[in-house]
Amino acid sequence: METIVGIDLGTTNSEIAFIIDDSAEIIKDGDTGIMPSCVGLNGDGKVIVGHEALNQAIVAPEKTVLSVKRRMGSDEKIQLGDKAYFPQEISAFILKALKTRAERQLGKPVEKAVITVPAYFTDAQRQATREAGFIAGLDVVRIINEPTAASLAYESIHAEDRTILVYDLGGGTFDVSIVKIENGIIEVLASTGDNRLGGDDFDAKIVRRLADHIQNELKLPIQDNPLVMARLKQAAEKAKIALSSSPFVTIEEDHIGKRFFKDIHLSYELSRRDFESMIDEELSRTMDAVSKALKDAGLMPSQIDKVILVGGSTRIPTIATMLEEKIGQTPHDEIDPDLCVALGAAIQAGREMGIDHTSILLDITPYTFGTSALDVVDGIPFGEVYVPLIRRNTKLPASRSEVFYTLYDKQEAVEIKVFQGESSVVSENVLIGNYMFKLSKLPEHSEIIMKMDLDLNGILKMRAVEKKTGKNIDVIIENAMRQFSEKELDESKKRLERLWDTQAIQFDETVEDEAEISEASQKPGISGEYAWLIKQAEEKLDLAAKEDKDEIINLMEDLKDALDKNDHEKAGQISEELEDILFYIG
Ligand code: AMP
Repeated sequence: METIVGIDLGTTNSEIAFIIDDSAEIIKDGDTGIMPSCVGLNGDGKVIVGHEALNQAIVAPEKTVLSVKRRMGSDEKIQLGDKAYFPQEISAFILKALKTRAERQLGKPVEKAVITVPAYFTDAQRQATREAGFIAGLDVVRIINEPTAASLAYESIHAEDRTILVYDLGGGTFDVSIVKIENGIIEVLASTGDNRLGGDDFDAKIVRRLADHIQNELKLPIQDNPLVMARLKQAAEKAKIALSSSPFVTIEEDHIGKRFFKDIHLSYELSRRDFESMIDEELSRTMDAVSKALKDAGLMPSQIDKVILVGGSTRIPTIATMLEEKIGQTPHDEIDPDLCVALGAAIQAGREMGIDHTSILLDITPYTFGTSALDVVDGIPFGEVYVPLIRRNTKLPASRSEVFYTLYDKQEAVEIKVFQGESSVVSENVLIGNYMFKLSKLPEHSEIIMKMDLDLNGILKMRAVEKKTGKNIDVIIENAMRQFSEKELDESKKRLERLWDTQAIQFDETVEDEAEISEASQKPGISGEYAWLIKQAEEKLDLAAKEDKDEIINLMEDLKDALDKNDHEKAGQISEELEDILFYIG
């Protein structure tokens, strides 16, 4: 059978994929498979492509070409060293590098390809792409639209007719397309966007913030120093990427300059919230484009069957939230947004080769994992809400953190509950862990960062950290992805029904698992917090050393006595001692 590969020839990055054992796979060469669409000349005048070229872009801009895709279809020549090239020729270097890596990995010649282009590409731009393939030694058997490829990646195994919205935000371009799949035929109904908007603009915003800080706070003029600006650009992108999974990031760049012969170092904290407000105007524009695409296709949001996220920048969490608000459904990103188009191109290539039943192997979580928090309105707590951290269908391994705030001054502890489930009503989800995190008596509204890491084996690691002190608690839940039995689900439902009546008035009580509270702790007069503490103490008795065990039993008895006597002051003191011991036992 002849070999046909699928290629995503992107503005910022390019990938090549192939069908292996009926499954579309990205061809990697000891790397992630993502190759920067960058062409350069090295010191010996030899052509270099990908990371090697990108690494020298800052120091040798005259010997490097970036974003050639923007110039495809034009006759304008591009200077590279002492020669000028047509855009097709520069693109051909990228295609040749992809072809070579595929031949190396597959161990056979690769002479045919399906290549993707944006839906808005004109005939001239498509023709230039074909020519680039030809120059690179590739027969371009099909040119397909990028949103079509993304839809193929998601829908290759579905037979039904579907209408899909593809939101594609990469490094330098943005498109939104509405794609219709009918009787197996894929058609782009509408496509709009801005081919000068993307992650690079977001990096530039962070760079501007850092440059202002360095000039105004550190009193160091740097604007005309290209090397410092290049370092800031790299640091900004790294920070932006980190903010997709963490609520805060500290940007550290040592030796950023000298003032009065003294080295100046940069250390700047940026929060996700702050970053999101910096790019709010750009993201709102992309949402306007979504409205326009729907209007052009003559569709209402409710007529969309699926929303797909494509392009690295769609990992910014607020994008999924904005789309969910607009379209009324959770967008899909389970196929890596960087690789989705290339995988779809490979599926089309497979079809050209006569392989119809291709799939994409996915390691995703079938459940959402999250925690609960008290929601506060006008300073008054009014209910416990479910806060999902790792959402269903997220690719594994996954890592995500979120920030929470203490409710009041010198708050002593926070109860961390870990849930598995999809309901926005916290008690309808399954409680898989419940931990007490003793705090350092921080001021009101101090940040507690909670991080969840879920791996392929279903091991969920949870860490809560007091941002101010670094004090933390680590917990591991070994089989978080275990499916709950009918019986457990039934019990969970019953528990919910029992709690339902009282939930409205008991929202701030720490009792969650009424059914599990022991008889002793359910004595009349023992309220939720004390009952919970006694339950914890009973559970941890087995873990305690002999002397701790005696101490715990005595404290439990004293606590019950104090409560019998309605002596709440004493009960409070004893609880503190008991909590301390339990905390040290872990
Ligand atoms: P693409 O053109 O699809 O390869 O996307 C590249 C862009 O995605 C670059 O601007 C990257 O900085 C950006 N990007 C990649 N990963 C992330 C992430 N986790 N969060 C935010 N932006 C990202």
